[in-house]
Amino acid sequence: MINNEMMLDEWVESMLSKSPDKVIIEQGDIDIPCRDFLEYANKLSHWLRKEGVEREDKVIILLPRCYQVYIAMLGVLKSGAAYIPLDPEIPAERVNFIVSDSGAKVIITADSILERTGSFLPQARVFTMEHDWNYLDSFPSQAPFVPNRTTSDLCYIIYTSGTSGNPKGVLLEHRNVINYLKAAQQIYPIAPDDRVLQGFSVSFDASVEEIWLPLSVGATLVVGTYDIMRSGDRFSSIVADLRITFLSCAPTLLSMVKEEIPGLRILIFGGEVCPTHLAKRWCKNGRTVYNTYGPTEATVIATYSVLDGESEVTIGKPLPEYDVFLVDENLSPVGVGEEGEILIGGESVARGYLNREDLTSTKFVHTDRMNGQLTRFYRSGDIGRYNADGDIVFVGRSDAQIKVRGFRVELAEIEVLLLASNGIQAAAVALDVESQQLAAYVVMEGNEELNRNEVAKLLRDKLPYYMIPSTLDIIDSLPVTTSQKVDRKRLPKPSAPLTKPSSHRTIISPKTELEKKLIHALATHFDREDISLSDHFFNDLGGHSLLAAVIVSELREQKLFSNLSVMDIYQHPVLTDLVDCLTLKSIKENHYQQRKIHIPSNLSFYLCSLAQG
Ligand code: AMP
Repeated sequence: MINNEMMLDEWVESMLSKSPDKVIIEQGDIDIPCRDFLEYANKLSHWLRKEGVEREDKVIILLPRCYQVYIAMLGVLKSGAAYIPLDPEIPAERVNFIVSDSGAKVIITADSILERTGSFLPQARVFTMEHDWNYLDSFPSQAPFVPNRTTSDLCYIIYTSGTSGNPKGVLLEHRNVINYLKAAQQIYPIAPDDRVLQGFSVSFDASVEEIWLPLSVGATLVVGTYDIMRSGDRFSSIVADLRITFLSCAPTLLSMVKEEIPGLRILIFGGEVCPTHLAKRWCKNGRTVYNTYGPTEATVIATYSVLDGESEVTIGKPLPEYDVFLVDENLSPVGVGEEGEILIGGESVARGYLNREDLTSTKFVHTDRMNGQLTRFYRSGDIGRYNADGDIVFVGRSDAQIKVRGFRVELAEIEVLLLASNGIQAAAVALDVESQQLAAYVVMEGNEELNRNEVAKLLRDKLPYYMIPSTLDIIDSLPVTTSQKVDRKRLPKPSAPLTKPSSHRTIISPKTELEKKLIHALATHFDREDISLSDHFFNDLGGHSLLAAVIVSELREQKLFSNLSVMDIYQHPVLTDLVDCLTLKSIKENHYQQRKIHIPSNLSFYLCSLAQG
């Protein structure tokens, strides 16, 4: 049981120091025992203190998917500071916005990231894994003493999409996380022999579940590198080879996975609507399957239901010690069957938004209407209704916030950027439900021409990849509702890709059978005839992760492409490079076969490519 007076890092340390030799983090063939994990976190916290980091300061963690991420998180907490976890693929401009918005004192990063982003705003000291890590050995291996800490200290800040055109930081305290972990330990039957895949990007709060829950019970955290998370239809066999028993994911991820994952005993869906057919497919073989619901502002999740594959999928009931009510616009509770906004109260409700007192006071409200006592609640903006069993059925949103393949997106953030582009008079962005793609629409000023490449550059410089619309259509005017708001339901079907490869470019046509088949598959999916081998899967064709997974899964059915993985597309997005990579792979395979060398299993293949990487 967690002692409420302990800080998160103290509590994890008290748990893990009981079994110093146990492997607590695994990444490929790298095993990190508890002893090393704690020791390096302690050394890092001393380094941070030496750099002047103090209680309630902020430290950005911007690292590739590797075990050092978790050492950095624990090290930051032990120094008394709060961590800001960022996705390794975030654009440099967004990092700089976060550096200045948060006043972060340090950025813990890696050379591979700096090569892509260039240097950051100078106010934050940069710690790199390649350079500074080597000096940690000279620091003490016991945690530093940080005076005056309380569980109301800041623990982490998660930046989520914001309507103002910039992301907003949600402030979570140690007590918020501890309260969540206490509840999670009650609802999930997780034990020290469980193996938990850490697959979510650390920039989402769903990762808090995958990181701090196993660390709090001494279960093994398996690092979800891109080789695993972007393995497409090999995902189930890789996860099975890794003997994962506990998996938390957005339903979109498993909707792509056709095969069963033997050994997986706890499966948690969350972050977006869980379709009934998916629940049915995964509720078998004695597995416990959950549908969990909650916003970052209430620390990971607030309600849960255990699915049986037969009954209606609901978001269930509140977690222990969480207060959840459905209310009307006057914050009065609604009755069974009526729709109401989901209001969340309890110890896990966040401190608020960083530097956004206005928004904090509108979204975090005090009311005594629920239980006669003045209590603080978070207004989620989500709409639900109670069914006859008192479970909450998720109905939708009351605003323009959406989920794209599990990612939280404020459409207004993209619209504000579009409006900042030359010649654009009005803009709207919507989710095209059929393709699960973001579709942008603009109305041009007078005779202004749309400069697609300029708009695409602006969006790519500022937004994370999942917020970049796939299409950009020019329309005469935006359809509006009677209350003069954009009526997104009446926007036309998206048709024009965000960027079109220049019509003046020389098209490199396919010659070999492999090239022809690849171009044919892409032409079908992107519905265009002018694809050149020099095109970039993401930037020129408007490809995205889901499409990459679908195309790879289709192509792999053909002999020539049996070796293709989604990761190959990420590593070689230009089609000629992709062809070279495939050719090299098949030469290697033939070589193995000729020498009658044992063809490695999925896992050893993956480990080998990791090592090569
Ligand atoms: P995030 O802050 O990224 O965790 O996103 C929170 C939002 O995701 C919620 O406010 C909901 O709109 C949506 N969401 C989370 N879980 C579910 C779920 N199980 N079903 C439907 N929507 C969900």
